[in-house]
Amino acid sequence: MLRMENVTKTYKGGKKAVDEFSLHIKKGEFICIIGPSGCGKTTTMKMINRLIEPSSGEIFVNDENLLKQDAVKLRRKIGYVIQQIGLFPHMTIGDNISLVPRLLKWESNKKAKRAEELLELVDMPKEFLDRYPHELSGGQQQRIGVLRALAANPPLILMDEPFGALDPITRDALQEEFKRLQRSLDKTIVFVTHDMDEAIKLADRIVIMKDGKIVQVDSPEEILRNPANQFVEDFIGKERLLQGRPNVQTIGQVMNKKPISVNRDQSVAAALRIMKENRVDSLLVTDDSNRLKGYIDLEVIDHNRGLDSIETIIKPALNKVEETSLLRDTIQRLLKRGVSYAPVVNDQGI
Ligand code: ADP
Ligand code: MG
Repeated sequence: MLRMENVTKTYKGGKKAVDEFSLHIKKGEFICIIGPSGCGKTTTMKMINRLIEPSSGEIFVNDENLLKQDAVKLRRKIGYVIQQIGLFPHMTIGDNISLVPRLLKWESNKKAKRAEELLELVDMPKEFLDRYPHELSGGQQQRIGVLRALAANPPLILMDEPFGALDPITRDALQEEFKRLQRSLDKTIVFVTHDMDEAIKLADRIVIMKDGKIVQVDSPEEILRNPANQFVEDFIGKERLLQGRPNVQTIGQVMNKKPISVNRDQSVAAALRIMKENRVDSLLVTDDSNRLKGYIDLEVIDHNRGLDSIETIIKPALNKVEETSLLRDTIQRLLKRGVSYAPVVNDQGI
């Protein structure tokens, strides 16, 4: 159904963001693309959706050359969901859902009927159609984001980290719901995530990317059993490490605790004392925009207690996490996986 042949994108003055990407996707397949931040996932999705022109290569949908089709016709074929949801705040839910039908000049009766039908799919009352996005929770908004992509019934849906900004509980619920929906509607899905759990849960096949290239394409079971190389092994390994932490507490309990701050100039011994007093077992390291850069475990900090400043251990000991995540979301995700408490160190000293 979707065929990509040697698709390459070089941004102006840059290296190749996507490098000879070739992939054949069958109708009804659920493909997850996974890889570290900056490996070219979004660029790949945008090329399929014609938001970015490839520097070279070909993309076909049902044997039609995608790169030669006009934009409106393309909207019948492809739905797109992004992490930032992207509902228009000044438009009602009904108008947001009907974005593509309006572009395709559907009659208003047909538009309204379709919007109601879509809300039914996710058990939302039709009264929601007259509400505005800010009157919905994050999870409800993202459901609308998904419905909007389904509105004109396109056979192919592209989803770029669609549930990445949601809290873990809502995220789990939406994953389940969406998987059910995909089966019953028989859509072909290309779904980007940086969360191995999510990929394993949803995908028929997982595509692992690194530096713009495909490293491995296989079923989740096969990737776990036979990682193609050290990179894949490390990538899965790191995810497993995050999953296997002790001291699970509920998110509510943990989030009610007050985070502590440790200054980068503080001695490791002092930081350790503060952590122990507050029963804290890892430090999150953020940049000055509060973006999470990674975390350091108590064990590592304890091990380096003789060192002068926390700063000296940040770089070598940092366990990196997805860079683009917002701090709070990432804290919640880590907590769900069992990190018992997550205070904040900022590597700018905040
Ligand atoms: P991912 O979605 O996997 O995090 P992206 O596709 O967004 O990765 O980015 C891949 C690479 O291309 C990165 O190195 C990024 O900095 C670069 N890049 C993305 N968009 C642009 C752009 N508009 N101009 C120049 N470089 C870009
Ligand atoms: Mg991206």
